[in-house]
Amino acid sequence: MENKLELLMPAGDMEKLKYAFAYWADAVYVGVPMFSLRARTNAFTMETLKTAVDYVHSLGKKIYFTANIYAHNSKIKPFLAQFEKMLSYWPDAFIMSDPGLINIVRKSHPEAVIHLSVQANNTNWAQVAFWKEIGISRVILSREISIREIKEIHEMVPDIELEAFVHWAICMAYSGRCLISNYLSNRDPNQGTCSHSCRWEYKVFKEELAPGELESATGRPEDYKQLEWSYYLEEAERPGEFMPIDEDEHGTYLMNSRDLMGIDYVKELADAWVISFKVEWRNKTVNYVASVARTYREALDAVEAGKEYDTKKLSDELFSIANRGYIPGFLAWNPWANAQFYERNGWFQEKLFIGKVLAYNEETKMCKIEVKNKFELDDTLDFLSPTDAWQEEVKSIKRITNINRANDTEISKIDVKDENLVNEQVAHPGSFDVWINCSKNPWDYAIVRKKV
Ligand code: SF4
Repeated sequence: MENKLELLMPAGDMEKLKYAFAYWADAVYVGVPMFSLRARTNAFTMETLKTAVDYVHSLGKKIYFTANIYAHNSKIKPFLAQFEKMLSYWPDAFIMSDPGLINIVRKSHPEAVIHLSVQANNTNWAQVAFWKEIGISRVILSREISIREIKEIHEMVPDIELEAFVHWAICMAYSGRCLISNYLSNRDPNQGTCSHSCRWEYKVFKEELAPGELESATGRPEDYKQLEWSYYLEEAERPGEFMPIDEDEHGTYLMNSRDLMGIDYVKELADAWVISFKVEWRNKTVNYVASVARTYREALDAVEAGKEYDTKKLSDELFSIANRGYIPGFLAWNPWANAQFYERNGWFQEKLFIGKVLAYNEETKMCKIEVKNKFELDDTLDFLSPTDAWQEEVKSIKRITNINRANDTEISKIDVKDENLVNEQVAHPGSFDVWINCSKNPWDYAIVRKKV
C-alpha cells in the first residue's frame, strides 16, 4: 500500500488531462465511453483512451478508467467485450461499482486492478472488509461519512487504500442514488446522464380549498394557487428548527446542494489514512482544473512535508472559480440545512476566466491568449501558472493587439513584431490572434483571469 498522498483530478478530455498534470496532479480518472457516469460530458473514445494512457505513463503518472454504471442486463455483454479491450491499454485501475460486473471481472481477469466507486456507497468498515476479500485494492469512500468514521474504517481494515472526495458537487441524494432526473428528464444518474434536476427552479403551490371541500377536489391545476411570502418547514421531532422554502420570482431551490470544499481538512484526512484526494467534475473548464489542482497540490505538499498551509489563501483561490457556495460536506459533521443553497441556483464567482496563454514572445514582451471571455484595455488581469510561485503579480492591460491580417500571408508565418500588430480596445471570445503585454513569461498552461 502506497503512503504518498495522491492528488486525483478529473479529465473530461485530452486538454483537461494535460492541464491537470501541468498543475501537478498525480493521477487522473477518465470516463470509458458508454460505461461511466457523466457519459454526456466525456470526450474520450476507445482510441483516445489509448493515447491518454500512453501520454500519462510517459509522465510517470497514473490514469484510472471509470466504468461505474449499474448495468441493466442488456449492457453486461457489451461491457465485458469492451473490458477486454480496455484492459489491453493497461490503465492503472478501473473504477467500478456494479457487484455483478466486479465479480465477473475478478474471476476472468484477476490481474485487473479495481477501485470501488463512490457509487457503491461505502459507509462502514464491514463493507470495506467485504470488498477487500473480493480483491478490491482501493475503496472510494461515500461522501456522506465523516473523518472520524474514515479513521475507524482504517483501524478496522488497515490493508486497503482509501480515497475520499475533497472538492466539488454534492448530490442531495446519496451520491447519485436518485431518480429525480429519471422522472423529470428521462436521464438516469446511474447510467451517467444526470440532468441535475435537483437544482432546477421549483414553485410551491397550495390547493385553494375551503374547509370541507377536500372530498370534491379535482386535483386539476386550477385548484392550485402559487404561494406567496416566505415559508418554512418544521419537522415534528425538531421543534424550532426551521427549514426555509423561500421562493423568488423564479422559484425555490429546496434540493440545491452547496459544493464540497475539503481544503481545511486535508491534514485530518491524511491522518485518517486517506491516500487519494479526489476532485470531481469532468466537464469543468481548464480554469477549474488548473485552479483546483494547484490549490490542493499546495495543501498536500505541505501536509507531506509536515508543514502548515495557509487555508485562508487556498480557500480564497477556490472561491475565485464558479461555485454554489461551499461546505465541507460531511467531513466534520452533518451539515443539516446548511448543505442546501435555497436562495437561488446560480453561481458565485470572484474571478472570470479570460483565457489560456498559448505563447510568449520574449522580444515584444507579449503573450498570446485564446480568449474565453471579453476583456478591455486597462482591465486588471492576473495569471495562474504552474511554475511561478502562486499567482503572478496583477497586470494592468496596456496593450491588446491582433495580428494584421491585411496581407494574405498565413497567420502562423507572420512575425509578432510591432509592424505586424494592430492595436485593439477590446478582445472578444473567438478573436483570432490576440496578444497582451506581459512583462515576463507566464509559461505553458498559464491561465488569465479577471476580478469580477
Ligand atoms: S438529480 Fe441531483 S441529486 Fe439526483 S443524481 Fe443528479 S445531481 Fe444527484
